[in-house]
Amino acid sequence: MKTCIRCGRELKDKKSIERKFGPKCYEKYKKELEEIGTPDNQMVIDEVIEGDAV
Ligand SMILES: [Zn+2]
Repeated sequence: MKTCIRCGRELKDKKSIERKFGPKCYEKYKKELEEIGTPDNQMVIDEVIEGDAV
């Protein structure tokens, strides 16, 4: 069973499983990374968005 690494809820859709976050936790996660705003973290966001497009 796949669960959200943020809140531990079960993930049922493929995208959420790939992200390891539920939709709401993923939005929060992205915002947090933006707030941190370091180049390294920006790369992580880009990678995640790229994966989402598949
Ligand atoms: Zn969650």
